[in-house]
Amino acid sequence: MSPLDVLVREATDLSEGGPGARRVIPIRTATAGEAEVARVMQICNACRYCEGFCAVFPAMTRRLAFSPADAHFLANLCHNCGACLHACQYAPPHEFAVNVPRALARVRGQTYADYAWPPALGRLYQRNGLTLALALVAGLALFLMLAVARQGGLAALAQPAGAGGFYAVFPHNLMVALFAPVFGWAVLALTLGVRRFWRDEAPGSTSAAALAEAGNNALSLKYLDGGHGQGCNNEDDAFTLWRRRAHHATFYGFMLCFAATASATLYHYVLGWQAPYGFNTLPKLLGTAGGLSLALGCAGLGWLNLRRHPLQGDAAQKPMDLGFLLLLFLTATSGLALMLSHASAGFTALLCLHLGTVMALFATLPYGKFAHGVFRVAALLKWAIEKRLPSRLKLADD
Ligand code: SF4
Ligand code: SF4
Repeated sequence: MSPLDVLVREATDLSEGGPGARRVIPIRTATAGEAEVARVMQICNACRYCEGFCAVFPAMTRRLAFSPADAHFLANLCHNCGACLHACQYAPPHEFAVNVPRALARVRGQTYADYAWPPALGRLYQRNGLTLALALVAGLALFLMLAVARQGGLAALAQPAGAGGFYAVFPHNLMVALFAPVFGWAVLALTLGVRRFWRDEAPGSTSAAALAEAGNNALSLKYLDGGHGQGCNNEDDAFTLWRRRAHHATFYGFMLCFAATASATLYHYVLGWQAPYGFNTLPKLLGTAGGLSLALGCAGLGWLNLRRHPLQGDAAQKPMDLGFLLLLFLTATSGLALMLSHASAGFTALLCLHLGTVMALFATLPYGKFAHGVFRVAALLKWAIEKRLPSRLKLADD
């Protein structure tokens, strides 16, 4: 469970342990965001018009009341497609003011902060735009200072690449020593954070079928199709597939860039082939395709984000969303520019820009928008497991 106040109280439970059995019952006051999710879900549970839109509504119908843990589960199951806002007869200005995407988006933001590891760093979400900017400045400063120190002066920043390529500026072992601990930290922090989310109302044991379904739903972004395959809403009640396409371009572009780095590592350590690599090699082909896809996807998502209907989502999270997209876009475009600029003046300065951006991206992975992917996959898997269990209407402290 999340960092909650936990009380132990005597309870009579005929189903678990018999009369007088002692149970640990988590109790805490719901935050305003969690209480709002419970309120709108209770209205939706009576209405159920949106039942076919996404997984949130079928998961909702298995509950009669909504604990904070339920609110976090449903919030991360939501893909913020906006369909249930534009379809809702109780949406503002109706007095019920039902806005499911906004209520769930606010709790999603709380999930990232509450479940962050270590907990103290959850505060970085509160000023995420500033966090990203500081990380970028620190990353740039680190590589600029290293380059100047290693090359013996500022003039080196304006030089084209030598025969040794970027390893002549920053040797391979130095890069590994700088990036490996930061990437390892990011993986550890995300793993421990999502483990706490999973344990907060763990759904039971998984199965191959549940894993396959969750994997398919995550990789295809099934719930960005509005439940009918025509896509989601963005600036109005018209459906569009552009958000899904741009998200796919971003995600698969990121994965191709990751594959490019992994293949370069194989070349270096297993095959003994040293960089720089030619344009027809696996690292370059994967990196070029990934960089282009990532840059286009980020530009598309940013453009759509700026045009989104003001009632969709949580406006307070825009700096985090746009900051993350900007960091990814800078990573992709500086990487592509680097491939084309070996013979150009300013190669070393461009290399510092690229490596500083990648370092800022890695350092902020567990404390920024990237976390949404990890928590969403966990929520999709929870749902794939839960839906296979016999239906059992769930009460608040059940
Ligand atoms: S969002 Fe509105 S229309 Fe949809 S189920 Fe809830 S109350 Fe009904
Ligand atoms: S915004 Fe879309 S994904 Fe989220 S609850 Fe509504 S219909 Fe489902």
